[in-house]
Amino acid sequence: MGDQLDGASAAFDGFDPVNDIVLMMELREEADTIPQNKRRIAFFFAAMRHFCAEQRALGRTVFYSELDEPGNAGSFVGELQRRFEQIKPDGAVIVLEPGDDRVRESLQASGLPVQFREDRHFLCSRDAFAAMREDQPTMILEDFYRAMRVKHDILMKDGKPVGGQWNFDKDNRKSFGRNGPPLLPPKPIFKPDETTEDVLALVERCFPDNPGSLARFDLPVTRDHALQALEDFVRYRLPDFGRYQDAMAGGQPFLFHSVLSGPLNLHLLNPREVIDAVLANPSNAPLNAVEGFVRQVLGWREWVRGIYWQLMPDYAQRNALDADLPVPRFYWTGETDMRCLADAIGHTIHHAYAHHIERLMVLGQFCLLLGVRPYDVHRWHMSMFWDAIDWVSLPNTLGMSQHGDGGVMGTKPYAASGAYIDRMSDHCGRCRYDPGLSVGERACPFTTLYWDFLHRHKERLAGNSRMRGPYVNLARKDPHEMQQIRDRAATLRDTLTAETFLPEPGQA
Ligand code: SF4
Repeated sequence: MGDQLDGASAAFDGFDPVNDIVLMMELREEADTIPQNKRRIAFFFAAMRHFCAEQRALGRTVFYSELDEPGNAGSFVGELQRRFEQIKPDGAVIVLEPGDDRVRESLQASGLPVQFREDRHFLCSRDAFAAMREDQPTMILEDFYRAMRVKHDILMKDGKPVGGQWNFDKDNRKSFGRNGPPLLPPKPIFKPDETTEDVLALVERCFPDNPGSLARFDLPVTRDHALQALEDFVRYRLPDFGRYQDAMAGGQPFLFHSVLSGPLNLHLLNPREVIDAVLANPSNAPLNAVEGFVRQVLGWREWVRGIYWQLMPDYAQRNALDADLPVPRFYWTGETDMRCLADAIGHTIHHAYAHHIERLMVLGQFCLLLGVRPYDVHRWHMSMFWDAIDWVSLPNTLGMSQHGDGGVMGTKPYAASGAYIDRMSDHCGRCRYDPGLSVGERACPFTTLYWDFLHRHKERLAGNSRMRGPYVNLARKDPHEMQQIRDRAATLRDTLTAETFLPEPGQA
């Protein structure tokens, strides 16, 4: 599958080049399930076609279904059945565990002799994760991360964490301040070759009305590209990654972030080799940067995947805050006068990427405060980002950013007023709204909706010890002002969600 581009994966164990066939397919169903960013579709198909060519160069037979090839059935099961009838194999169809429960279910229900193999890409198997959670049902991410550090002997010395602490988060919350970011190292550019150019033309031809842009397409679509991107990150951006990992700057989508999630999630890179490259630390980066990055890959990424498989399929239905609004239409166009959102959505449209704090504290947080259905936020995320796969997107959006799981991914909602965005970015000074105001024409919608959010969910959240501060502040609000806030929040909810772009599930 498009997110399993590793020629040494378990799917190839025992592969017989004389009798076995690799089957790969570009499918309309996958590209249409949710209207997708053109860049995301192009990234997947270009990476798949390069992988196909690499496998053929190794002497493996690959049956590759191009999207517009006559006869392509357009769905996983349909195309698998077509190929099955064409090839008439003696044995089973070997499939590496998909990263999407929906795909796994449809393959299981296909009636074909499908055999699943465990995906060795991850550092914690599904069984190992389930056993850890069974041993320790109250386990939270931090417990899991520490256990993984010990198990894999990463950043450990004499049984203790290197540097005497497990976590250096307090050093990793700096903003750029008045002078803006320091000189940023350029991100590597991977110029499209003929194969990628063919894909770009195909996507323009087949998806002319989809959101996103293919202009200056420069994504890493081969393993060689991915290794170069990794090398570039550890040399030039890792030293400042830690301290500025939560900072934002207008017009700067990448800053010091690794931008390796795409190649990692397509398995062009292995998480252990990424961690080892960071631990080798050729740029002599400080420990807070190294540990902060390791935590993302060894802790967060593995935790998210474990939660997904442990709690699916019910997890997708969770909506702990009973949010029922659609994603606003401007999430596909960037047409909003809220500067922070316009900037982050612009990055999303043009690069199919926004860094983690833009996703969590701007894009995600606005939907949380507004009251958007968590699963729809996930669907939007899946449609727009080049690195989104169901297993990683669902816990991050529905769980962490929307608190739809009621506290599995985060012990409290990530809710803040416009003051947070003002502190961490340069957006507010150039915005028509004022982050300090919660009522009136110039009131920042984040600030208005933040107070309204606290008020609406008082019964659910006031008892959460981590929400004590916000509720003490809410109690100090003048009742008259609070009523004005609630009225303005109701107007914002009505007007901002009057239009959406997301079809109902199943109506792509
Ligand atoms: Fe965003 Fe509010 Fe700041 Fe404008 S004032 S940039 S809407 S946080």
